[in-house]
Parts: sequence; C-alpha cells; structure tokens
Amino acid sequence: MRTMRTVSGVRRTVSKWRQSGLTVGLVPTMGALHAGHVALFDRCRKLCDRLVVSIFVNPTQFGPQDDLQAYPRDLRRDQAMCQSAGADMVFAPEADAMYPSGFETSVRVGEVGTRWEGESRPGHFDGVATVVLKLLTIVSPDVSVFGQKDYQQSVVIRRLVEDFNLPVRIVIVPTVREADGLALSSRNAYLDPSSREAATGLYRALRLAREEIKKGRVRTQILLGKMKSLVEQNGVFGLDYIGLCDPDTLHPKVKAKPPVVVLIAATCRVPGAAHNRRFIDNIVIR
Ligand code: AMP
Repeated sequence: MRTMRTVSGVRRTVSKWRQSGLTVGLVPTMGALHAGHVALFDRCRKLCDRLVVSIFVNPTQFGPQDDLQAYPRDLRRDQAMCQSAGADMVFAPEADAMYPSGFETSVRVGEVGTRWEGESRPGHFDGVATVVLKLLTIVSPDVSVFGQKDYQQSVVIRRLVEDFNLPVRIVIVPTVREADGLALSSRNAYLDPSSREAATGLYRALRLAREEIKKGRVRTQILLGKMKSLVEQNGVFGLDYIGLCDPDTLHPKVKAKPPVVVLIAATCRVPGAAHNRRFIDNIVIR
C-alpha cells in the first residue's frame, strides 16, 4: 500500500492502473478511522480492482463553531487500518495541496444543503461538495463509497454527481453501530457514561418512529412529540432538529408515509470542552 501526499502522485499511479485495465474505487474520509469506515472499504474493494482511501480533514467544511484543530489526527494508525483493510493507496494531502494559494472556486449546494444540518452548519455542505468534487476529479474513480450515517451528505453528493455529470457510481453503505445501537463515530470516545446513555437515546427515538410508522401512525406532529419526549427524558442533550422527510429531496413530510427518512441531531455539552459535541443519526423506512 502506498501513501501519496500530492495530486500528481495520485494521478500517476491511477493512470498506470487504468492502462492495465484495472477499475478504481475511492472512499473519502477525514481519518480517525473505525469499523464504520472499514465497512465502506470492504464494500468498495468488492466493487473494483484498486481501493484508494483519502484522509483529509477538510477545513472548508468546518464552521466557526466547529473545532477544526481538535479533530483527531493519527495518520500512522489510519495507514495501518487501511493496509489491513486491503487498501492499495492512501491519499493524505496537506491542506495546501488541496487549497494552494490563489484557490477561489467553490461549489454552492442548492436547497438540499441548506436545511437540517445545513441550517445548523451554514456553508458546511458547500465545503463537502467542493472537496468531494476535487477528490473525484483527482482520483477519477469508477465507484465512490459513502456512509448512510451522514444521510444528508449522501443526498448532496448524489446531487453533485448528477448535476455535474460526473462519471462515477455512488454507493451508500448502511450505518455501522455499536452493540447498544450508537452509530460508530470518532466522537464516541469523548462520551462519559451519562452522555453515552443519552446518545443512545437518539437511536431509540429513531426506532420508536419506525415502529409507529410501520403501524400506520404517520402524523408527523405526533411522531415528533413522542420522539422529543424520549430524547429529552435525559437532560444531557439539547435537541437540534428532527426531520421526517422525503428520502431524495429531504423536504419535510406532513404525513410520514414510507418511503421516509427520519433525521435527528443533538448537541451534547461536555464539561471542560471548548466546543459542544454534535451527534447525528438517521433511519430510512421504505
Ligand atoms: P468521516 O471520516 O467522518 O468524514 O466519514 C467518512 C465516511 O465514513 C462518510 O461517508 C461517513 O458517512 C462514513 N461513516 C462514518 N461513520 C460511519 C458509520 N458508523 N457507519 C457507516 N459509515 C460511516
């Protein structure tokens, strides 16, 4: 497995692969890898001949409220995980390889990027779409794999690929969870027992919504009330939003008849930490 730091290095290797008739897959990440990322690598490896993992903590998707400096970085550990997951290349550029001086062109995501997460984190999806467009252009993969964990991100990326006619197949892998239902995340390590218990409440609320919807109880206002009271039983979390929406457009639905995606986000105040921790989760009911 090779680690590349430059755009030209990636291009050289990928074009050799292509000349040999090999297909290429890309899994973009920000590092701090865990079993959720590995599920994406496994899926991608099955779909193509060569697997590229990008590891880049993208500054343009962090807002002033997010702690970019505190994002965990451990390239050696991540390289070892990529190697044992069968990756052929890690692309780990420095920020100035991706955003050299003079950089000034960005993607502006439309309505799909402005509600839910986009409302809580203005500009976040513009940063995501810009860096993903760059990565897809640099690696030019046949397939790129993303996690359902970041549901709205997956919708934004599908839109990006369609709107810009990018010749890549996008594949979404279901969320990998811990035994108690908590979605795997590098942020879970920061949780103490009571905030961890509260965090699992997000998934309990999603499951409650699924059970109700499966029984035909689809009135959004009533579902929202039930989910809120479940999450707020435990005071550690501030609920940010719950959305019951169309899985393709993310428009809110008055009646949560399937197909529907339930999105949830909450903020956890951690004593002593400079910034609150946000948790997001979702469930799709078809
Ligand atoms: P990140 O490194 O957080 O930017 O995530 C990189 C990719 O891994 C994204 O496509 C995420 O949706 C995906 N991902 C993160 N956590 C999980 C998880 N628990 N299960 C499945 N995919 C995940």
